[in-house]
Formats: sequence, C-alpha cells, structure tokens
Amino acid sequence: MRQYFVTERLQLGSCVQLSREIAHHLKNVLRKKSGDMIRLVDSEGQPFLAELNVSDTVYATVSQQLEEKDKQGTITCCPCLIKRDKWEMLIQKAAEMGADRIVPVISSRTIVHIDEKEIDRKLTRWNKIALEACQQSNRTDVCTVTKPVYLVNIAEYMSENNLLAYENEENAQLLDLCDERDITIVTGPEGGFSSQEAEFLNGLGFVSCSLGQRILRAETAVLYALAVIDAKRNTL
Ligand code: SAH
Repeated sequence: MRQYFVTERLQLGSCVQLSREIAHHLKNVLRKKSGDMIRLVDSEGQPFLAELNVSDTVYATVSQQLEEKDKQGTITCCPCLIKRDKWEMLIQKAAEMGADRIVPVISSRTIVHIDEKEIDRKLTRWNKIALEACQQSNRTDVCTVTKPVYLVNIAEYMSENNLLAYENEENAQLLDLCDERDITIVTGPEGGFSSQEAEFLNGLGFVSCSLGQRILRAETAVLYALAVIDAKRNTL
C-alpha cells in the first residue's frame, strides 16, 4: 500500500488535505479513487491507515492507527561524493536499505566538486530523493542528507560503533563488527582512501573492516555495507 509523509500530527478521524504533489501522484499516476486506502505517517513518525476522498483536491481520513516498527540502531552512512548519476542512485538505494543519515564526504581523492552556491539546491534535491525512497519503501522515518563535510571534520558524525570500509583490511569483516548499536560507516571515493586518511580515521576511532574479497565500486560498497548491517540486525 502506498505511503506518504504528512507534516501534521494525526489521530483517528483526522482529515487532511494532501499536498498538490501527493494529490497529483495519487490521482494521475496511481489512478486512486475515493474509498481507496493509503498509509500516512504523521509528524511523529506514527503510521496510520487512511481513506481517500478524491475530487479536485484530495483528502484522506484516518481510519486506523498502525503498529510502529521496532526502531533499530541508527545508521549514519558517510560515502565520499561521487559523480551525479551514481550519487543520486546511491541516495535512493541507501534510503531504501535503512540509512538514517547520509553524510556526503569530501576526501583527498574526491573528484566531484560542488560549488558553494549550488549546495542548497543540491541538498533540497538529495533530500527529496531520500524522502521519496522512504515513502516508497514504507519506512516510517525519514533519511536525511546533510551538507557535504571534509573528511577532517567527520568526527562530528561518529556514533557508538564507527567503521571504515577499507579494501586493504584483510581480517576484520563488517559482518562481525556490526551489531544493534548506532553505527557510522565511512566508504571511499572511486580512487579509495590514501593510507594517511585511513590512519587518520583509525586514530579517531574508526575500525577498519573488509567488505569481502572483491574490490567494489564506491556506490556498490555502500549498498553492500547496508545490506550486511540489515541482515545482521535481522538475526539479532
Ligand atoms: N582502492 C581502489 C578501490 C576503491 S573502491 C582503487 O584504487 O580504485 C571505493 C571504496 O569502496 C573504498 O574506498 C572502500 O571504502 C570501499 N570498498 C570497496 N571494496 C571494498 C572491500 N572489499 N572491502 C572494504 N571496502 C571496500
């Protein structure tokens, strides 16, 4: 069932007018009619079932409160910025796969440059991609994308468990190092991290881990890591 986020606080019987964008999607893309049901997630992250009333505008009346999913430890995903198409795909997939926060990182080998004047527009676009992916995958919380940060400032985004995906690590495996605690995972750009950067991160407390024997592309590494974290948590 389709799910949308609304900015209001909802309760049984609440009737909300859906935004023009959601109304357009429901009416013209999904061809929804009055009486059809959708899921709405309110400003508190609480999911509800709601019945549509479709005319020029679209209203939804809340008919049932749904169970909230168990919240697991948060995932802060810190991938180095990569080229646009792959970056936007990365945001969409990472949001689907459970990232709570995506922190675009600029390291010494990051080749993508984002103009300071462009940042606000990019952030709006990136957060829209993340929000739509969360709606589409029936998440009740929203993944956010922060402003790009230089690797030297990464400490601000550390969690309880901090990992660095490092292709030169031969022993420690991500699967063994991740658990239910809040996690921050850093992954490199196309050209990887320099050994100095890896040492810097280790010094901050990021534990190096391997993502297996193959060298993955930057965007694949992020998705691989998220799949492993999710699979591990589902067994705990
Ligand atoms: N050093 C390489 C590859 C970089 S891969 C090169 O010179 O081209 C891009 C990023 O993906 C790496 O920085 C790392 O964070 C992650 N990555 C890819 N494969 C990995 C693996 N097998 N184990 C751990 N991290 C990996």
